Amino acid sequence: MITPDYYYIIVGGGLAGLQLALEIRKDIFFKGKKIAIIDPSEKSENDKTWCFWEKGEGKWDELVHKDWQQGKFISDSVEKNLDLAPYSYKMLRSIDFYEYAKAELQKDPDTYFIQDTITRIDEVTRTAIGEQRSYTATHFFDSRPPTAYKEDSGSAKIFQHFKGITIETVDDQFDPERFVMMDYRVKYNHSTCFTYVLPLSSKQALIEFTFFTPFLTEEKVYDEKLHEYIQKVLRIEDFKIVESETGVIPMTDYPFHRHHSRHITKIGTAGGWVKASSGYSFKNTERKVSRLLSNIKSGKRPEQHLTSKKFQQYDAIFLDVLEKRNDLGESLFTKFYTKNSIQNILRFLDEETKFSEEIRIMQSMFHPQFLKSFFNKL
Ligand SMILES: Cc1cc2nc3c(=O)[nH]c(=O)nc-3n(C[C@H](O)[C@H](O)[C@H](O)COP(=O)(O)OP(=O)(O)OC[C@H]3O[C@@H](n4cnc5c(N)ncnc54)[C@H](O)[C@@H]3O)c2cc1C
Repeated sequence: MITPDYYYIIVGGGLAGLQLALEIRKDIFFKGKKIAIIDPSEKSENDKTWCFWEKGEGKWDELVHKDWQQGKFISDSVEKNLDLAPYSYKMLRSIDFYEYAKAELQKDPDTYFIQDTITRIDEVTRTAIGEQRSYTATHFFDSRPPTAYKEDSGSAKIFQHFKGITIETVDDQFDPERFVMMDYRVKYNHSTCFTYVLPLSSKQALIEFTFFTPFLTEEKVYDEKLHEYIQKVLRIEDFKIVESETGVIPMTDYPFHRHHSRHITKIGTAGGWVKASSGYSFKNTERKVSRLLSNIKSGKRPEQHLTSKKFQQYDAIFLDVLEKRNDLGESLFTKFYTKNSIQNILRFLDEETKFSEEIRIMQSMFHPQFLKSFFNKL
């Protein structure tokens, strides 16, 4: 039998691919195994700002750009301070992560970075077919952005889509110790949309206008809403834009697990690692990578027990509610953030709560649409 080019090939060197490669390289179990990370991009730009929460110190602290222990939730009816302790909300710039990961991985003689676009992975011949050439391996971890969910009529589909701009002001305008998780005061056609504010200093903040909707929109809509927020809500006239980012994150109960096969494991967004009801995946990726590698080491299939059926069901119901009644977003999130402690909310989103706590959280948000969506998703 011909020896494959690599032991593992990781298709896509973004968040999931690089976290997986870093953990493989740290683990003595995989010592001497050749791995390749194939990506068309050199990853030389800051294309994303990742935020996540965790208790106390964490493994990415050296890369963290800013963190907060205080937050705020604002809607038409309420303004609530969120005291996160013992949690911190941490922000990391993707460029810092890419550069760190590349520098670490390049130290290892058995890790190879390849710039190519993979068009197909052939399960039978265990070959990834690229635009430049083909590559063989014993197993593939594939994080190419998924597309199949878009055509699936049976799954709920909400898009978390947004534009963020980092602005600099002349005067002190922001409290650098308090970020805004959601501010519902700027609205768009009875849809679920809010502004998210990450203050970096008293004169600089990343401000994002975000939708959780079944539809996408044109860029000028985000621009109008961002300016409305800055000028009418924050009452800032004098500012300049120093950076911007846009994104579309699928929030769906699509069964991504269908696409795993014997020699191909889907990872990242393609593997369903984005929490369907929140769009967060940075910390989820860390947990799933760790589980996936311990599965391999104990002789199980890599993807085994990576997801909780119970929480998938909760997420599916919530997405169905938002899909059918997108106008309810503001009132549902207002109840969520005001009737529960922030610590319980974060534990719930981390899928660490007990059933009795989950019932209490669901009761706190109750609306008759939940019953309809429950039966719809049953
Ligand atoms: C702008 C933005 C901001 C976000 N902010 C947060 C946040 O604050 N917190 C959070 O938890 N989550 C956030 N997310 C969600 C999620 O964490 C990110 O989308 C994350 O990057 C997903 O990781 P991934 O590895 O699946 O995808 P990616 O990081 O996008 O990696 C996929 C990689 O595949 C490569 N690729 C694509 N096609 C091919 C091909 N044909 N062959 C080979 N390689 C290919 C791409 O170049 C890319 O490098 C954000 C998402 C976006 C878009």
